Amino acid sequence: MLPGPVQEALQQSLVDFEGQGISLLSLSHRSERFDALMHSVQTRLRSLLDLSDEYEILLCGFGASLHFSAIPLNFLNEEGVAIYEMSGYWSDRAADEADHFGRIWRFQAPLNVSDAARQQGMEVREHMLGPELPAYVHYCSNETIDGVSWPTLPDQWYGEFPCPVIADMSSDILTRPIHLDAHAMVYASAQKNLGITGLSVALIRKDMMGHARSQTPRLLNYEILADTHSVPNTAPVFPIYALEQTLIWIEQEGGVLAMHARARQRSDLLYSFIDASELYLNDVPQLIRSQINVPFALRQSGLTDPFLAGAEERGLLQLQGHRSRGGVRASLYNAMPMEGVIRLTEWMREFEQQHG
Ligand code: PMP
Repeated sequence: MLPGPVQEALQQSLVDFEGQGISLLSLSHRSERFDALMHSVQTRLRSLLDLSDEYEILLCGFGASLHFSAIPLNFLNEEGVAIYEMSGYWSDRAADEADHFGRIWRFQAPLNVSDAARQQGMEVREHMLGPELPAYVHYCSNETIDGVSWPTLPDQWYGEFPCPVIADMSSDILTRPIHLDAHAMVYASAQKNLGITGLSVALIRKDMMGHARSQTPRLLNYEILADTHSVPNTAPVFPIYALEQTLIWIEQEGGVLAMHARARQRSDLLYSFIDASELYLNDVPQLIRSQINVPFALRQSGLTDPFLAGAEERGLLQLQGHRSRGGVRASLYNAMPMEGVIRLTEWMREFEQQHG
């Protein structure tokens, strides 16, 4: 969902970009105005994320899925091993791609466990690896489909584990403060909290650059992307402008802390409603529930379709769960107003009364 002001800016830009008499879609990526746009995006992102100069900010003309391949190509040599923490659908997809490029060790992410169990999990990993250090550890901070989120980010887990940590933050970047310093790389597709599809953002610590395999395609080589200032070929101007407008909106709304407070409010309301109801069920343990994606099921069979149809009649759109899971999923990205969740719970209440 796009914030209203962003949608309006995009509309206007299509007709007449900044009063220049041309559409943004006609703006050359070799123009001074485009350079200024890139500079604006990078400066705003760095400031919103409180990102030090040690990190490159890359704007990539592809989605998060292609990073699944780019990451091993850039950071894993033929003999190396990388650890993938499994927490749901997207961490699985990332490991599936990485499997094409090297030895990938999958571990069940010890998310909903005690400190002692977590410590034990870390010891198992160290023991299995022996003297071999992994090239990196990869995890997904928020599982968009499963509605599972890491309660604390792994700087607390891998503090003793001397290898780079890489995170897919496609669905929760800029929705909560993150410990970026604990990461060697963070990446995210744009279409959830950074504007529209056709773009992803990669934040990469500079000392990670320069180890890509020789056969790495030019456009997937992070060092080349950095050297060309993210313009190795024709840049996707429109999604980059959408990103700039989204960042401006987040700044005006109070930044990441304000986004986080809203995310908590929205998801608290929805989870407490679900937990108190007899019809709806979210079976993710409390500690690891996502504040962004709330999947839930209806306990009685045959009610999901009528629930979704009634929701749609009330303007509550795109609530069907991912095709791999079914059920219902409310995605509460930054632009979702509290009003949207209130209206959803009103419909859930009405529907439960009809079918209770
Ligand atoms: N990772 C996560 C966590 C996602 O939610 C998604 C998209 N839903 C992806 C990766 C894939 O992104 P894309 O479709 O932009 O490649």
